[in-house]
Amino acid sequence: MLRTWYIVHIKKIAYASRLKVFVHMFFLHVKIYEAMFIFMRATLLSSLQCTRCGKNLDAYPPKSHCPICGGLVEYVIDAEKVGEIKFTGEFSFWRYRPLLPKVKNVATMREGGTPLYKAERLSRNFELSTLYLKDETRNPTNSFRDRSAALMVSNILDLNMTTAICATNGNMGASLAAYCAKYGINCHVIIPKIVDMGKLAQMLVYDAIIEEHGETVDESIRRAELLAEETGWYQATPELNPLVIEAQKTIAFEVAEQFGVPDWFIVSMGSGGTAYSVWKGFNELYDLNKINALPKILGVQAEGCSPIVDAYLTAEGDIEKPSTHAIGILVAKPLQKELALNAIKSSKGLALSVSDQEIFAAEQSIARLEGIFAEPASSGTIAALKKAREESIIDKDESVICLITGSGLKATDVLQALSKKRKSAMLGAEFSTKEKILRLLSERDRYGYEIWKDLRKTMTRSAIYQHLNELYNRGMLTSYIEEGKKYFKITDRGKRVLKAIDEVKALL
Ligand SMILES: [Zn+2]
Repeated sequence: MLRTWYIVHIKKIAYASRLKVFVHMFFLHVKIYEAMFIFMRATLLSSLQCTRCGKNLDAYPPKSHCPICGGLVEYVIDAEKVGEIKFTGEFSFWRYRPLLPKVKNVATMREGGTPLYKAERLSRNFELSTLYLKDETRNPTNSFRDRSAALMVSNILDLNMTTAICATNGNMGASLAAYCAKYGINCHVIIPKIVDMGKLAQMLVYDAIIEEHGETVDESIRRAELLAEETGWYQATPELNPLVIEAQKTIAFEVAEQFGVPDWFIVSMGSGGTAYSVWKGFNELYDLNKINALPKILGVQAEGCSPIVDAYLTAEGDIEKPSTHAIGILVAKPLQKELALNAIKSSKGLALSVSDQEIFAAEQSIARLEGIFAEPASSGTIAALKKAREESIIDKDESVICLITGSGLKATDVLQALSKKRKSAMLGAEFSTKEKILRLLSERDRYGYEIWKDLRKTMTRSAIYQHLNELYNRGMLTSYIEEGKKYFKITDRGKRVLKAIDEVKALL
């Protein structure tokens, strides 16, 4: 009896486990098919195509130009083959992996997923109903280039390469140096003579090998091209690696999820790659039926260096002496000019330039009204918005998003200008104390304690004596002793100075 029960039970167990194995195998097969499907789809996504002759090229390592016709190359997706796509996982860069070229390794420092702020105070300034700032300063190294660094370093790990080379005038070098440091890759950076000091400090502290070459980044790029050919190092220069456009297009994906599609997307242009990336991102979503409109792209450049704007206005010509304090966009011969123009023209957008003065004023208003310290290059977007509103190019009911690419702490040019202003403000205060002393003395002679008291004791007595001493040395006052007290008396020269001050004030 017991034996029979035992045998039956064993059989049951055997049957159950066979069923289990069957079920397990079934799901394993499903998983394999799924993996194959994902792989095939990823392969489809990864096709690298020449933008000129249409030739399909090997996806990796990424190359800058078509070996056949020399045209620019780019990764393309076939929307029909891609089918339904879902973005999953936390709100960050890697959420958009299904639309990125395939990588096995994931190098990450939690890039992307940056906030989109409604800029209410700033929008009131422009009498604009809807203005948002996409705040890329919130990335790991405080700029939008961390997206590119994450994707390229993932690719470098896949390819088992040990050294990356990058020509940069700032943000890309800082980002790449940080990600290379984290993943143990050598980082060789080529910079032009002028780079923002904050960005250079980042490259140095992340231990990149830094080589200075050329007046502007254009020359550095040529050097990086040659050096990569010679050494076989991984080419991570943004203009020479099409993965960068893929990485930066995720900004559009995020905006689409956070807000939808704005009427205008304003972006500053150096090489022009970012304007194109954003446009590409929105277009892919459009082709995949995820959005049903496209934004107009407004590309901004600094007046002192505006080759893309010039080309847009068909007043093309080489920039003789490129100059702007927005060093991040100081590019004389932008390699991605055609791509940027394509984005601007096909979106029915606009290209315009703003002066350095307008850029700095915008930088201050973003900080004062919205609490964001943006670098000059990205502050240009707000300067451009101001212009576009003044010229009624952008309507007050249209929605606008400005891309804030990097932190103002990286661009010490502005910091220096601001601290100079602080110094001159202090100088002004000092000047007004001397002026106040002279005015008191023009009423009647006074002794030191009296002056200090009449100035409402706003500073130490020794500071007052310091001022009196300086005025005395410049012949604006004299002194005499009466009843044991030292009296001060204004001289004719002192009176003339006061009069001059009054004349200047009348002009202000
Ligand atoms: Zn080609």
